[in-house]
Amino acid sequence: MQSAEDGAGDGFYSAGGDREPYYSLNIFLRQKFGGKVYRIALNPGFTCPNRDGTIGTGGCTFCLAGSGTFAGNPRRTIDEQITEGMRGLAQFRPKAYIAYFQAFTGTYAPLPVLRDRYRQAFARPEIAAVSIATRPDCVPEDVLDLLDEIHGTKPVWIELGLQTAREETAVRIRRGYALPCFEDAVRRIRRHGFDVIVHVILGLPGETREDMLHTVRYAGRMDIQGIKLQLLHVLQGTELSDEYRRGAFRVLTREEYVDLVCTSIGLLPRNIVIHRMTGDGPSQELIAPQWSTAKRTVLNEIHHALKVREITQGCMRGDEKHERGITDADQTDDSIHAEQSEFSALG
Ligand code: SF4
Repeated sequence: MQSAEDGAGDGFYSAGGDREPYYSLNIFLRQKFGGKVYRIALNPGFTCPNRDGTIGTGGCTFCLAGSGTFAGNPRRTIDEQITEGMRGLAQFRPKAYIAYFQAFTGTYAPLPVLRDRYRQAFARPEIAAVSIATRPDCVPEDVLDLLDEIHGTKPVWIELGLQTAREETAVRIRRGYALPCFEDAVRRIRRHGFDVIVHVILGLPGETREDMLHTVRYAGRMDIQGIKLQLLHVLQGTELSDEYRRGAFRVLTREEYVDLVCTSIGLLPRNIVIHRMTGDGPSQELIAPQWSTAKRTVLNEIHHALKVREITQGCMRGDEKHERGITDADQTDDSIHAEQSEFSALG
């Protein structure tokens, strides 16, 4: 089994000459695939039950076009979108690619349609893994069985939009499902041996710093293999933007966000890969916070703060375990999860 540690015992992770105080996606991909792996964002042309009337029609209040802005052209086949994506990334000389079904709900279509779209991705030799963004209420057993049947030796990652563990906020942003649904989905996906990546949004309306950290702790207690920490973006044309203009909430400052990300890293178990630490909203539609457009600056500040505060991933877990009254015997769970994670990621 490969280790995420560099053996120096200083809490850092390393691979391919890179060293990070947290389990970054870059480190993880280098370990798993032995080089640079890039994601190709795909749009299979599906919709979402929170938009088509099945659950609701307005969608989540923060959502603009189902996060499909940077994804491929849905009028093209998945195969064509992959070819196009590879063309755009060729300059970086990737070793392989991840097919990322990003737009809307990536499991929300009849089975024959899903089979066709997924197969096109799995069939490409350049694709090393397939990642599917979806909702916890849209991962029925037949879809998981289908993935079982067709994934071959390629890893499957299912990305679940949790956003928050606070039910009151979930209602306010119109997420459309409750926490037991999320927990059930995680259990079932893991039973199939696929990795779970959870999306969390920091800065949702009405949430305190403690609420946000509660969500990170909650996610860290689940059997998940990756997390995306995303800053709330207020985008033009969303219901959230009306709320924001009415002054119903304020967005995070850069300092608050940097602090939240650093503390989250300290609270997360060491085997969970951090796939993202900022948001990636479309800048033309961005209303607030404007500071988030300087993504490189934000990342630099996070790295600087981690260094100054001497934070490495999981270093605050002692406090966390103490808070939760976890015994020493429970601590072995982390190493078991780490092994399971390694195993399933290797597919
Ligand atoms: S579930 Fe996803 S695609 Fe659907 S409205 Fe919410 S954020 Fe948008």
